[in-house]
Amino acid sequence: MAKILELNNLNLGFNTDTGYHQALYGVSYSIEQGKTLALVGESGCGKTISAMSILQLLPKNAQISSGEIIYSGKNLLEYSASEMQKIRGKKIALIPQDPMTSLNPLFTVGDQLLEVIKIHQGLVGQEAIKKATEAFDAVQIPSAKERLKNYPHEFSGGMKQRAIIAMALACDAEILIADEPTTALDVTIQAQIMELIRQIKEEKNTAVLLITHDLALVKENSDEISVMYAGRIVEKASTSDFFKNPKHPYSVALLNSIPSNTVKTLSIIQGQPPTISQQISGCRFHPRCTECTEACKSKIPQLKEIGPNHFSACHLC
Ligand code: SF4
Repeated sequence: MAKILELNNLNLGFNTDTGYHQALYGVSYSIEQGKTLALVGESGCGKTISAMSILQLLPKNAQISSGEIIYSGKNLLEYSASEMQKIRGKKIALIPQDPMTSLNPLFTVGDQLLEVIKIHQGLVGQEAIKKATEAFDAVQIPSAKERLKNYPHEFSGGMKQRAIIAMALACDAEILIADEPTTALDVTIQAQIMELIRQIKEEKNTAVLLITHDLALVKENSDEISVMYAGRIVEKASTSDFFKNPKHPYSVALLNSIPSNTVKTLSIIQGQPPTISQQISGCRFHPRCTECTEACKSKIPQLKEIGPNHFSACHLC
């Protein structure tokens, strides 16, 4: 199947008062049309910053030192700001963690949706209203035409997230980046939003990059998984293979820390992930790894294929 987006060997860091600190180490992943890739790992592991690199929505002190981000055969890192503006929202849309921060409280939700449609589709007047109403209908916002007149505070959290997804739909985005899209929502609404994203993916053949720390969510809602730890990809596999046969000690520890029918006793991963300024030799997981050997403390494990389409970065795999 055609890859629509590819990150190749992305190295990124931050210029700070204490110097340049690397945050991503040779990160590579790709997404196929109509598939969902889940990017999994603890907070601060680099999931979101890699996604923000795709959209070029990085903090000012971030610096990509090498690598490429290929979308439709072209390297997005060579795009100008105005070229990126045409991609962002129209071709690649973001569903953020907290919809509250993405909608302007001073304008109606409809005005904000119509603005997006005007910028990306060039539609105004009745044509734009028709498109906006269709987008609201598609995300199951009832009384769509009336709801367009509401302000964000008149929407519940789940409705706001639906409105954000409607904006992505109205632009016919080819890729959805869903960054912890259900974290701010209660459990029943979470399931509805994930179901909505799944439906869009299937009906429109959209590619989805699902960023989450929630492995239970990933199991039901992704085709492929890349696990990140401290700025590196440590395991990649199809979702079914990953859950049947996790290989990297970090992945195994993550799986053992979520409730399931097979895990009788929940375990915790001792210690904390390193900050970007912390220098760690060898395997970056070694201070927390129960399998750590002497070699792990000095030698960096490379990501290698350990089975069909299954990769792990561990000396023991
Ligand atoms: Fe653990 Fe060593 Fe594998 Fe790192 S390389 S995950 S420290 S066993």
